[in-house]
Amino acid sequence: MTRQAAGIVAVTAGSDPVDQRLTLLHELAHWLGPEPRRRRWGRVGHHDASFYARAFGLYAAHGIEPVEAVAREGARHPGALRHARDLGLPGAAEAYLARRDLLQQRAASRRPPRVVVAEHRVRLVRDGRWTRCAVCGVRIVGPMLARLRRRPGRHLLLATG
Ligand SMILES: [Zn+2]
Ligand SMILES: [Zn+2]
Repeated sequence: MTRQAAGIVAVTAGSDPVDQRLTLLHELAHWLGPEPRRRRWGRVGHHDASFYARAFGLYAAHGIEPVEAVAREGARHPGALRHARDLGLPGAAEAYLARRDLLQQRAASRRPPRVVVAEHRVRLVRDGRWTRCAVCGVRIVGPMLARLRRRPGRHLLLATG
């Protein structure tokens, strides 16, 4: 956390020395940047291209290998990967694409299920030795069949993915 007006750079980092150095340099990069005119309380802003040009410059100048800096900064601030790629840092283009693929996969798996057959009242029909719903064709067995024989039920057929 950096509060330029108060002259404070406060850092919380783990026991990993590279992590500590990266965390401090990250805050220093904020410190060295232009002071945001209106920063919302407690919110560190401006993780933009000029910030990352400054930050990755500091990481390199203070002995953090670019590949490692990209990996660590990207793990903490995924938005860094795009800027690292634009800065041409080694491994950044691959890391950026891998991250984008991951996000796309997640978005795809989160897509709401499609309605394949609209909600309907189950109508039981015999199909050889099976019983199916006449409307959607789903085979009904066991306790579900016993329950549907006792009282009517409804179906909604969804597909995911
Ligand atoms: Zn920051
Ligand atoms: Zn049905």
